[in-house]
Amino acid sequence: MAAETAPAAPAAAGAAPVVEKQTNCLACNKPLKKLKLYYRDGKFYCSKKCWRDFLRKSKEEKK
Ligand SMILES: [Zn+2]
Repeated sequence: MAAETAPAAPAAAGAAPVVEKQTNCLACNKPLKKLKLYYRDGKFYCSKKCWRDFLRKSKEEKK
């Protein structure tokens, strides 16, 4: 009687973790340009105005 080998093959082999690169502003969804970027809390926005818009929106959604 041969001991059964558990089918524990690494199914996710070769599947590299997908790192989503942020290419659009979170507030207005416009494509971000390298020259004009506003960086806050690990996210990119195209301007300070958009950052504030996004903050306001996220606060409203949490209500
Ligand atoms: Zn924007």
